[in-house]
Amino acid sequence: MKSPAEARKILAALEKHHPDADTELAHRNAFELLVATILSAQSTDRRVNEVTPALFKKYPDARALAKAEASELEALIHSTGFFRQKTRALLGMARTLLDEHDGQVPKSMDALTALPGVGRKTANVVLGHALGVPGLPVDRHVLRVSNRLGLVHSDDPVRVEEELGKLIPKKKWTQASDTLILHGRRICKPTPQCRICFARPLCDYAHR
Ligand code: SF4
Repeated sequence: MKSPAEARKILAALEKHHPDADTELAHRNAFELLVATILSAQSTDRRVNEVTPALFKKYPDARALAKAEASELEALIHSTGFFRQKTRALLGMARTLLDEHDGQVPKSMDALTALPGVGRKTANVVLGHALGVPGLPVDRHVLRVSNRLGLVHSDDPVRVEEELGKLIPKKKWTQASDTLILHGRRICKPTPQCRICFARPLCDYAHR
């Protein structure tokens, strides 16, 4: 396990690789990001960004989405995969927003994860990127990269979120997650490119 000071140095090194780290899901507000993040499960951000312009035009808010015909929604999101399951999640989410939150996206982890189809990762993405509340989404890239670096030692996303949360100042959580995700996509891939990695001097995996 690294110290907070070591974690700071590692993140500073990774930020040099990815100064532009941010979510790659196109959105204009918390509702759109919530929809896009639900669609991103088992898909790619690029694929999601291809379908969301038409989706948001037709269903710009929870009220419109709650009234959508399942078959029309399925046709619009088909290419993102698991479209029946995602349609159920989107309709349930929109109806719950209407029934319990006046159509607005709530600003708390508990309220977000009570929505159909919304887990901690999705909730953290929306909190951190659209609601101004620090969130630390842990996806497969964050899991892989933070374990290799020696920042954490666990395959459990909730445990990793907790451990990273202790190592990293709260105000940096969202940027740290974005940076680890991009590092996992671009450099610390399943076959890592350690030779070009700025974090190599501090990385456990590179010194096994
Ligand atoms: S040194 Fe290698 S294993 Fe470590 S973070 Fe960089 S790319 Fe990943």
